[in-house]
Amino acid sequence: MTKGYLGIDIGSISTKGVIIDENRAIIARSYLWTEGNPTEASKNVVRELERQVEGAGVDIVGAGTTGSARRLVGAMLGASVIKNEITAHAVGTTHLHPDVRTILEIGGQDSKIICVSDGIAVDYAMNTLCAAGTGSFLSSQAHRLGVEVEEFGDIALTSTKPANIAARCTVFAESEVISQLSMETNKCDIINGIHHSVASRVAGLAHRVGVRDQVVMTGGVAQNHGIVKALENQLGHEISTSPLTQYNGALGAALFAYQKALKKQP
Ligand code: ADP
Repeated sequence: MTKGYLGIDIGSISTKGVIIDENRAIIARSYLWTEGNPTEASKNVVRELERQVEGAGVDIVGAGTTGSARRLVGAMLGASVIKNEITAHAVGTTHLHPDVRTILEIGGQDSKIICVSDGIAVDYAMNTLCAAGTGSFLSSQAHRLGVEVEEFGDIALTSTKPANIAARCTVFAESEVISQLSMETNKCDIINGIHHSVASRVAGLAHRVGVRDQVVMTGGVAQNHGIVKALENQLGHEISTSPLTQYNGALGAALFAYQKALKKQP
């Protein structure tokens, strides 16, 4: 029997889960939309993770939670550790990128810049007030333009002439998108402009705390290559990502559960 450690990251938009083994390698993962129901989303994520390890002789001996519904779901699962997103992302990201110094995390409803030293978060800046630099703004504009959010970034990269979407606030940025549509601006240029606008909000936040290499982007929006490219241009730093970056918070929670279980051993 292999020991497994569960980590769940319950965000307002998505719920992520991983199981790691005794070597701290990810052996199962699941990403689902939270859809306003964090407990149901978490149950579905756990069910999917269990399905992935079924028959593999994995015994789940510890669980950790993070994300906005971490306490609620932590109580439901009997988690041994409950950690805030900043700590969990710092630990999860450092596990995959040991040299990381700056984490850019653009999630569904906020964006954060986390400064890391030796695997520990030492400073951060966060934007929770305005949706203009977040994944939900990208999702709502993708929906308005009739495009899947998963394809949004690649479409932006086909344009060389971003439309001017300069407003700092979602409501005004949205009306700029509508006015560009009425001027019959090329759709991919509007999409490129939206990406530049989100990237400039996040770059402004990053400059407040300072950007040091290695820069790693996490959160669901790290899967959007258009945003990664726009941020690289605006920050003047190369940004590392991986297909697993949206699991970094869940991985951090699982690693805390692993450490807690080790400490308990006689
Ligand atoms: P939360 O803040 O709830 O933790 P995430 O970090 O998963 O949520 O961010 C959700 C956002 O990530 C979505 O609104 C969407 O813009 C973006 N996103 C998620 N998956 C993808 C994908 N495959 N391609 C592009 N964008 C994605």
